[in-house]
Amino acid sequence: MTIRHVAIVGGGIAGLTTALALARLDIRTTVIEKTSRFEAVGAGIQLSPNASRCLFKLGLQQALVAAWHEPPRIRLSSGRNRRQIAEMPLGDFARRRWGAPYGVLHRADLQRILLGAAEASGLVHFVMNSRWHEGEERSPREAVAAAIDESVDLIVGADGVHSATRRFIAPANNPRSTGRIAMRMTLKDAALPRWLDPEELTVFFGPSAHLVAYPMKRQGEINLVAICAGSGREPAALPLLRAAFSRWDGEIRSLFSSGTDLGAWPIYDVTDGPWRNDGVVLIGDAAHAMPPYAAQGAAMAIEDALALAECIAEVSATRSIEATLRLYEARRRPRIDKVRRRGAVNRLAYHARGPLRLGRDVVLALRPPEHLAADFDWLYGEHPSA
Ligand SMILES: Cc1cc2nc3c(=O)[nH]c(=O)nc-3n(C[C@H](O)[C@H](O)[C@H](O)COP(=O)(O)OP(=O)(O)OC[C@H]3O[C@@H](n4cnc5c(N)ncnc54)[C@H](O)[C@@H]3O)c2cc1C
Repeated sequence: MTIRHVAIVGGGIAGLTTALALARLDIRTTVIEKTSRFEAVGAGIQLSPNASRCLFKLGLQQALVAAWHEPPRIRLSSGRNRRQIAEMPLGDFARRRWGAPYGVLHRADLQRILLGAAEASGLVHFVMNSRWHEGEERSPREAVAAAIDESVDLIVGADGVHSATRRFIAPANNPRSTGRIAMRMTLKDAALPRWLDPEELTVFFGPSAHLVAYPMKRQGEINLVAICAGSGREPAALPLLRAAFSRWDGEIRSLFSSGTDLGAWPIYDVTDGPWRNDGVVLIGDAAHAMPPYAAQGAAMAIEDALALAECIAEVSATRSIEATLRLYEARRRPRIDKVRRRGAVNRLAYHARGPLRLGRDVVLALRPPEHLAADFDWLYGEHPSA
């Protein structure tokens, strides 16, 4: 069956990238988005080479390079005393080793670029302010028919971690709270202490918590993301942050007082469960939200979008939609599982305490930067399912 028109539920990173990837196949899409307009959400985002490679394939290279910064390295440092434990080169090294760059930027810039390209394609139509299918008994097909008054060949659920589409495909597969919370804030360049390099991506490790800092060049700000214990229901984020980092270096903790726009995001996991049923398929966080220990949630959503388009290009004309979606899932699931496992290992390493922490520091310090980089070849390098 030839796919000509696709409904995409959710206009986040997964949904917009899917619309663009399908537009390249001349497939029309209707993006059904619950918000009334696209607003900037969150702060910074890291796009590792596996993600930037996909976005470049969609013709976004020039726009991205103009908007982002390519940090020269990732510095891994102790949260107790700020001492460097190890580093891994990025910048030109990333471009040479993985064939694509590692960029950091504000999410609003990424959204603007995706949206601009989608609109320019002339093949993407937006239905805003449509809280699609929430609390409904109708099937997704019936709900889409009511929302967009036109038949579609495929429905893509890209509606994030609390996906309404997933409730149809896998009603029992609810997001699981990890008991961790991400707190994001921004720091003006002017408030930056001398010990924090504004060009680099720095990860500070500490007991049961870690902190990531990187620049958002266009905004002249540093993005700070702190991950620690918390449910997200706590009323005051700053006291929680101070308590979680109470045993950290005083200079690092003083960053929290200078930070602005503090926001908290409870961290969820969506594991197992089917991704497809009756011409409806889940992608991005709706299918497989994962804690951000490997900074790969959006990267996997972007890979999903291209992989889905590739499967459609390969088989949909000659075989059924179900065969197309089966191929998509068979290609993507092993990779998603592997990335999730990598995130779990990172969590143990980042938050280690006692002898485990000492072991981690020795192992990392002994490894030359190029060897650390080699550990990422499977993830950042060219991959058949990405
Ligand atoms: C603190 C933090 C830091 C992160 N950092 C990184 C990083 O550096 N790199 C990285 O790769 N990933 C990172 N991630 C993960 C990344 O943010 C997510 O994986 C990514 O945003 C998922 O995109 P998505 O489009 O699947 O979902 P979402 O971004 O949640 O988008 C879903 C969209 O669907 C809409 N929607 C929801 N319900 C409905 C409905 N019923 N009807 C219609 N529309 C609906 C929403 O309004 C939204 O527009 C981070 C996550 C966190 C919490």
